[in-house]
Amino acid sequence: MLEITKKRPVTTRKLHECFACTQTIDKGIKAIYATAKQDEQHTHFHLHQKCNIKLAKNKNALSDGVYRGCLNDIESTPQWLMEV
Ligand SMILES: [Zn+2]
Repeated sequence: MLEITKKRPVTTRKLHECFACTQTIDKGIKAIYATAKQDEQHTHFHLHQKCNIKLAKNKNALSDGVYRGCLNDIESTPQWLMEV
């Protein structure tokens, strides 16, 4: 299971994929850079700020931990995905 060990706010300098929703994170915006550990392997990824909040709010639904695209499974049509 993937365990986030550290999070810090960053301003992206290039495009990234959001780990939680798998959508693109634009460059030049504020995002969350997360460091995580999975089976003693270290990994890192980016999250939208709002996805970071969603992850925190859905902690109970993610009792098995965070995985790629996990927010898509929690909510099929999240309101914020409709916003551009
Ligand atoms: Zn996202």
